[in-house]
Amino acid sequence: MTANPLILDGNRVAADIKDQLAGRISRLAEKGITPCLATILVGDEPASATYVRMKGNACNRVGIRSVRIDLPRDTTTEKLIAVIQQLNEDPGVHGILLQHPVPHHIDERAAFDAISMEKDVDGVTTLGFAQNAFGFASFPSCTPAAIMAILEYYQLQISGKHAVVIGRSPILGKPVSAMLLNKDATVTTCHSKTTELEHFVRSADIVVAAVGKPKFVQGNWIKPGAVVLDAGYNPGNIGDVDFESCLPFASAITPVPAGVGPVTIAKLLKHTVDAAEKNLD
Ligand code: NAP
Repeated sequence: MTANPLILDGNRVAADIKDQLAGRISRLAEKGITPCLATILVGDEPASATYVRMKGNACNRVGIRSVRIDLPRDTTTEKLIAVIQQLNEDPGVHGILLQHPVPHHIDERAAFDAISMEKDVDGVTTLGFAQNAFGFASFPSCTPAAIMAILEYYQLQISGKHAVVIGRSPILGKPVSAMLLNKDATVTTCHSKTTELEHFVRSADIVVAAVGKPKFVQGNWIKPGAVVLDAGYNPGNIGDVDFESCLPFASAITPVPAGVGPVTIAKLLKHTVDAAEKNLD
């Protein structure tokens, strides 16, 4: 048991990131530039529609223009790529976000890779992923970047620690594993074929849950004093960590909601402003 675990407040970290954007957005306005994020939603999956709406509202609150493109569920890969190419060529659009997941019939990798590098504000392209792995990405994926920002904000040590990441998706588990490795953690990445998952988690100083299963990580898996980061966002605002059972063992833990989620959105806003500033060069 750990006395008084630190609750890692995502709203606080997000506010810190957004505070640093206000002046930059004003300076861009003086040059006649309004940062603009285009979001593409294919189909009408309610959770995805909610995420896209949240991102659009967050843009509008800080003075970033948001353009939303809704495409029907039966959109072909070719049509989606054509829409992305139009946005690539539009000088008024600085960031492009294709909401994941897209319907199964679409070649998601081909669609992600159609996004131009300059506008890949969620680090989804193959080249963006590779640059992130090498440690010099302009725009790392927003959720992994959010997890790293929380660790940095609260000055939690990464170097030399054993980090266990549960999940290996290209937008979350794999990039955050690379980012932790680049900060000198010893990283174990677990997935659905991992045997003895609990054994690995029990040896972790840092646990990242990116599994997509509500309340999956249990308190009796957590080494006393471990830092627990919950990237999960399941229907009903439920994380991938069983917060109540993990709380007594963790030294620091993110809640859901108000943990990784708001920082992910703040990172998306920051990357969009970064992309718009490239027009000043
Ligand atoms: P995903 O693409 O479905 O990947 C889930 C990963 O978990 C896969 O690598 C899978 O392994 C692994 N997994 C599934 N069952 C497992 C098990 N029993 N034991 C160990 N690993 C298991 O999901 P994602 O897009 O990475 O998202 C993960 C979570 O993060 C979801 O809750 C999602 O809603 C949330 N999310 C949050 C944000 C945010 O802003 N907070 C953003 C994006 C995603 P395999 O590779 O072997 O299938």
